[in-house]
Order: sequence, then C-alpha cells, then structure tokens
Amino acid sequence: MAELQLDNVTKVFEDDEGEIVAVDDVSLDIDDEEFLVLVGPSGCGKSTTLRMIAGLESVTSGTIRLGDELINDKRPQNRDTAMVFQSYALYPHMTVRGNMAFGLEESTDMSDDEIDQRVTDTAEMMGIEELLDRKPGELSGGQQQRVALGRAIVREPAAFLMDEPLANLDAKLRAQMRTELQRLQEDLGVTTIYVTHDQTEAMTMGDRIAILNDGVLQQVGTPLECYHEPANQFVAGFIGEPSMNFFEMELEDGRLVGENFDYELTDEHREAIDGTERVVLGIRPEDIVVDNTDDDTHTYAVTIDVVEPKGDENNVHLTFDPDDEEPETFVATVGGMRRVAAGDRVDAEIPSEAIHLFDARTGDALH
Ligand code: ATP
Repeated sequence: MAELQLDNVTKVFEDDEGEIVAVDDVSLDIDDEEFLVLVGPSGCGKSTTLRMIAGLESVTSGTIRLGDELINDKRPQNRDTAMVFQSYALYPHMTVRGNMAFGLEESTDMSDDEIDQRVTDTAEMMGIEELLDRKPGELSGGQQQRVALGRAIVREPAAFLMDEPLANLDAKLRAQMRTELQRLQEDLGVTTIYVTHDQTEAMTMGDRIAILNDGVLQQVGTPLECYHEPANQFVAGFIGEPSMNFFEMELEDGRLVGENFDYELTDEHREAIDGTERVVLGIRPEDIVVDNTDDDTHTYAVTIDVVEPKGDENNVHLTFDPDDEEPETFVATVGGMRRVAAGDRVDAEIPSEAIHLFDARTGDALH
C-alpha cells in the first residue's frame, strides 16, 4: 500500500513534425488506498501519464514517487505497480493460470506451490476458477477482462494502474463491472489510478477525479466538487451530461448583456466578477426551470426547438428566437412525464443561485 506522488511531470514526444507536449507539468498526489480517476478527452495525455507511472514511457522531466521511493528510473517489473489495459493484453498461448502466474514467476522468488495457491485464491475471489485451464481465445470479452484484473490483483502491487479497462465491454456488463471493481478496490485497499474518457464513469467511480486537457491538469477534487465548483469553463463543460450551457455576455452597468437576453446580477455575483468585462454565464440543463417559474427577473420566454425523450426525463433544446437564421440554443432537462413538443412557447428560468460565471478571456471561474 502506498501513496503515489507526481511532481511537475512532463512528457515531450518528438516526431518528424516537431515536439508534442503530451503531459505538461502535472503535479498530483494520490493518497494511500485512494481510487483516483484520471479523465479527459481523447489525446489529453491520460494514457501517457499512466504509462510513465508504470515505466512503459520515460519521463522528460519531473519525479514520480511510490511510497518513499523515487521510481522514475526503475524498470517496469521493479515498480510494484500492476497495469490493466483496455486490450487486456493477455498472452494468447498461455492458459489463464499461466497468464496469472507469469508476473509472479518473473518478479518474485515465490515457490511454484505458493504461486499456484495465490493464483487459485485470486481466481476464486474473481469468480474465474473454472476458467483457469482455458486460453484467452476461449473466453468472452467480459471473462478476459476479469482475467486481466485477476492478473493484476494476484501480484498484490502497491498501486493498480488501469487504462480504460471496461471500454470494450457492452453497456450492461460495464455498469456491473464498475460496481464490482469499486468494491474490489475498497476491499483490497490498493491505491488505484483509473483512466477513462467517460465523465459518467469518472463521476460514479472516483474518490476524487483529476481532469486533464491538452496535457494540463485542470482540477483535482471529489466528483461533487468538480460538478458544483468547476475551476474553469473546460471542467464545467466536461463534467455533467448534458453539458452545461454557456452564454457570452458583457458587463454593462452592473448587469450582464448578451446576444439574446440580459441578466440581472446579485451583489455577490458582482463581487465575483469584480469588473471583468467579458464574462461567460454557465447554467446546467438540470438547473433551468421550465414553466412553474418563480423569479420573473430571471425568466425568459423561449421556444422549444427539439425534444429528446430519454424516458425518465426529456432534454429540451430551447431558443430565444426560432426565426433567427442561426438561433442561439440551449438545453434544459424536464421530467419525463411533462408534455413538451417542438414549437411550444415556454418560460425558462435561469435561477441566480445556480449560475456559474467565468472570465471569457481565461476561462477561469469567477468566485
Ligand atoms: P485516448 O483517450 O485517445 O487514449 P489519451 O488522453 O490517453 O487519449 P495519450 O495517448 O496520452 O492521450 O496522448 C497524448 C498526446 O501524445 C496525443 O497528442 C498523442 O498523439 C501523443 N502521443 C502519444 N504517444 C505518442 C508517441 N509514442 N509518439 C508521439 N506522440 C505520441
């Protein structure tokens, strides 16, 4: 068990076209026994970060510590980490037993009997004992994924490194494995970094989440902190489904003036804005009140452009002026039982206690 510490870690790749800064000065402390999810869009540097921790990629600058040990220059097999890949990366010619035993044979001086016992115990814990004599080609995707996890667990590493391990499973199995993985991690108490591009997975699984964009760490916090207090516009737009709506506004005479509507500010908002002239107003779809509004100042007459039924709720796309050639639209969620149809004229309230404000120039949240 150990704490994992990244200090000013940078990775620069060089290719024919020049340099790519894949990971840019990332500092991150993962507590002992913590489940940290590293999340961000494709190409933001998640896998590279994980691969540097595993030792599969060198570090251009910065340090990585596991427990008290600096591990930058250690070989992957000497790092006391176990990685689980999206592709599972099982050896096709070996049985499940062979796959699970391989790491222990290579990196420990355990006897064959001890290894066999450990493999059997882990297989039982993972519910794959009846698969031990099969080869990966004879297993379903879900079973292979379990074996890949079992192979990491059997090594009893100080940290698990998981790179989108559930990405190849169908939606139902993925949801089931999410819960199982969380329970397993809690029982085993092994420090875990879990990489995904899926914000729902990040929100539901992580003790904390770390959000990366363009190689730069944007925010580290509990899922709810990142949802309620996003550090910047990128995080605000990335966390939450459907995404937060954004409106570009100008500060004029203490209120915000936008293309289609003006917004009255509270004293608290004005203090947060502190004279910033170009402001982005953000509001989550689930925070918009459609009809049943109770604050006239922040209520606007809008038209429903499109309705996306989702069963328990509907996403309604709203527009201020449906005749506009390029209408500014935004999304609100309403209950699934509500009768809403494209073309309906409705009232939409943007409650002042639910708005988020960002500096339009830097994207930083204004608190
Ligand atoms: P995805 O979710 O698509 O896997 P990611 O967030 O894991 O993306 P990385 O695979 O870490 O992103 O890649 C980060 C950046 O580094 C990308 O611009 C990628 O093209 C680049 N990159 C990754 N590996 C190499 C390499 N070996 N050589 C050159 N560039 C690379």
